[in-house]
Amino acid sequence: MNERVYNFSPGPAMLPLDVLQQASADIINFDNSGIGICEISHRSKEFMSVATEAEALLRELLNIPQNYKVLFLQGGASSQFYMIPMNLLGPGKKATYLNTGTWSKKSIKEAKLFGEIDVAYSSEEQKFNRVPEDTEYSVAEDSEYLYFVSNNTIYGTQFATMPKSDKMLVSDMSSDILSRPVDVSKFGVIFAGAQKNMGPSGVTTVIIRDDLLDKAPENTPTMLKYQTHAEKDSMFNTPPTFPIYIVGKTLKWLKENGGIAAIEKRNREKALRVYEIIDSGKYYRGHAEQKSRSMMNIAFNLPTADLEAKFIAEAAEQGLNGLKGHRSIGGCRASIYNAFPVEGITKLVDFMAAFEKNNPA
Ligand code: PMP
Repeated sequence: MNERVYNFSPGPAMLPLDVLQQASADIINFDNSGIGICEISHRSKEFMSVATEAEALLRELLNIPQNYKVLFLQGGASSQFYMIPMNLLGPGKKATYLNTGTWSKKSIKEAKLFGEIDVAYSSEEQKFNRVPEDTEYSVAEDSEYLYFVSNNTIYGTQFATMPKSDKMLVSDMSSDILSRPVDVSKFGVIFAGAQKNMGPSGVTTVIIRDDLLDKAPENTPTMLKYQTHAEKDSMFNTPPTFPIYIVGKTLKWLKENGGIAAIEKRNREKALRVYEIIDSGKYYRGHAEQKSRSMMNIAFNLPTADLEAKFIAEAAEQGLNGLKGHRSIGGCRASIYNAFPVEGITKLVDFMAAFEKNNPA
């Protein structure tokens, strides 16, 4: 295969071609230093400026207030499932969680190791095909925070607007960070694995309000305290240098392409074109309820499992890869993050129309 294909993978996912081209040169010789980006010391002035620039761009794009720290951590987004309650809860402390899919379920399981967890809403019985309205749950008065997953990668649902609560919000934004504006000041912690909207896997961005940094109990291991990483600007130990470098380049690409406002508009246009063909007849069926539909991951079914298998195989032959749904729900899923090109959407909707015509139910 000489040409790049349209890759609908849920993550790691497509990155901007410009970023990859620049990275391929910098892998050999970064910024005329004579050293490749993967070989350069994390304490060198060259790498320090990579990390500083990545943080500055993230702050600018998301309008992050001064009293928030940005951390670049390892251990995947999944490590935040325990780091958050480990740092913010403790015996006798409570938090409220919304169960809207696999990733919230996993974080609820971990949080229960550290405190009392109130699951105020669950759409599990409806196969996680929706997220709640604010009126559908209440947050316990003595909760430290309200935790939710802003976009459910597997089931293709998304909070169209962030939950409103008097309590501090904590959110896993792994699959929709930087895809739309967010009022960071409403949150205690926002975290996201980089591998969907920001870069490759290997780095997790944590945005945390600074008064929360020293809440961890005394016996918390050093590496698992937010404070440790905040005090050393994410350089307590060797950070994931190459992923941070790509994140910086991806953020620069986003800024040069109009920032969050422009990408939000483009993301909506891209997703609505796919939903339009899903809604145009009875052949394709979207998994998510209309109001809960994700602009990032579109989960859908065809009339039969055989047709779905044929659809996925024929799409791949035409350079439309990674359309198989997650094993927990089956069917098909198109993940179309920020860097997924508009031309790939055109190719997908044309393919969907032709497939329906050629393969009647
Ligand atoms: N949260 C969400 C919303 C995800 O989509 C994923 C991975 N797809 C994770 C958490 C877990 O991320 P990681 O594999 O980096 O631990």
